[in-house]
Amino acid sequence: RSSLKERKHPSGTAIMGGTFDPIHNGHLRAAVEIVDRFAFRALRLIPCYQPVHKGQPSVTAQQRLDMVEKAISCDERLLVDSREILRKGPSYSIDTLKEIRQEVGPDEPLIMVLGMDSFLSLPTWHNWQALIEYAHLLVVSRPGWEPDFISELQTFCENCRATSAHELQCAPSGFVWFEMLPSLEISSSMIRALCKKQESIAYLLPEPVQNYIKQNNLYL
Ligand code: ATP
Ligand code: MG
Repeated sequence: RSSLKERKHPSGTAIMGGTFDPIHNGHLRAAVEIVDRFAFRALRLIPCYQPVHKGQPSVTAQQRLDMVEKAISCDERLLVDSREILRKGPSYSIDTLKEIRQEVGPDEPLIMVLGMDSFLSLPTWHNWQALIEYAHLLVVSRPGWEPDFISELQTFCENCRATSAHELQCAPSGFVWFEMLPSLEISSSMIRALCKKQESIAYLLPEPVQNYIKQNNLYL
């Protein structure tokens, strides 16, 4: 890990997709741990418009986007990318990765960051096997989710698992890497449930986002 940080120049662009309904400190700590450990140039948070594998979000796409914008002001390496919301329709990661790859050119390492829970559902994603043609997959630990892969995913991992984290920074795409992070047992559904019960959501998400939720009477 130390040798990763010794790189002189940050390089590579990380991407973290999500519903962010709302964004919370679990997302944000994972994002900053990853940019620090891997010295990526930036990490783009990409709120989806219409999630493909779960029900409709509880608030509007614009509200979810507003909350991401309010959340990231503490770290200039975190960026918000609103392309899925502008594109509308079902938000397929493969479409997003293809677009970003076009924009950054063929040589830039692109790294899609996702939690273990999302990774386990990968075989249900649209055109999932093609994702690594456009980016690496960086899978971060999430409390309660163990790497118990169904055979399809197991085979996929055997074929493209990186032998060292350096491979994510050298090649533009093509590898899967697993990274253990300090556990934060926080989820958006837990925050929505607390709001509904009119209980405190303090310390689970940034204050500006808490204030936005209060001011707009969200999740009641
Ligand atoms: P919900 O409870 O509504 O399912 P969520 O908390 O899972 O929401 P998402 O927006 O669905 O949040 O997550 C976006 C991405 O962030 C996913 O890849 C997910 O695995 C990851 N993620 C979310 N929370 C954490 C956490 N506490 N630790 C690590 N990764 C997380
Ligand atoms: Mg979830």
